[in-house]
Amino acid sequence: MADTFERFKSSVNKGITTISVKASSSLEKSKLKAQIDSHNAEIERLYRKIGETAYLLWDNDAPDFRALNDMFGKVKARKTEIERLNAECAAIDERDEQKIANADNPPAPTYVCPGCGAKYETKLNFCRSCGTKIPG
Ligand SMILES: [Zn+2]
Repeated sequence: MADTFERFKSSVNKGITTISVKASSSLEKSKLKAQIDSHNAEIERLYRKIGETAYLLWDNDAPDFRALNDMFGKVKARKTEIERLNAECAAIDERDEQKIANADNPPAPTYVCPGCGAKYETKLNFCRSCGTKIPG
């Protein structure tokens, strides 16, 4: 009975953590997604411009291809930026998963010596550095 309640409590806590972790990241992520969308829109515009420019070059007696190179460079720069933004989104997801996993497995308690402040991960009766009795 007690065990069932503990499990229930733990799953509720995990649910609350998941909601709050995702909520705090959603604004951050929607900003990144908006940037990605605007880069994609600009790339579409550049593609159209490249097509038009290529046609004009074909129709010209002395074509100068430098204009195309500039536009290819701009597309490349935006694609690189989109990759970086996607990696940032993935890092946020990874960080959230870590937070949720940590909430599920809280860090081990530490025992602090009231005499000198030394910290121990396991319960000791007396502090190893000053010999004070450690409560708990
Ligand atoms: Zn101590």
